Amino acid sequence: MEYKTPEQKKKFYRSSAWQELRQQALSRDNYECQWCKKEGKVTIDSIKEYGQRKEIVLNVDHKYPIEHYPQLALVLDNLETLCVYHHNVKEGRIFKRKKPKWDDERW
Ligand SMILES: [Zn+2]
Repeated sequence: MEYKTPEQKKKFYRSSAWQELRQQALSRDNYECQWCKKEGKVTIDSIKEYGQRKEIVLNVDHKYPIEHYPQLALVLDNLETLCVYHHNVKEGRIFKRKKPKWDDERW
């Protein structure tokens, strides 16, 4: 199995094997972001209200990405529950903000 293309990944994340393992990871991690936990914060998933679309807060992340470690795709020890923010940090999608421009102005 390979998970290199978006189609392959999509297929994987829709598989029942993944859905099942994901639930195991979430319950093992107490439905808490593991990075927030290390910082002493508790970030839990939003509660689904009947008839409402659930706002997803938590992701189950592969510590070793499936793209490079397909053999670890379904290994519980390779999974970690992360909030959206920390998931983005891990994926390098959040960068430090540049100083606002007006800060440079001197009078
Ligand atoms: Zn977090």
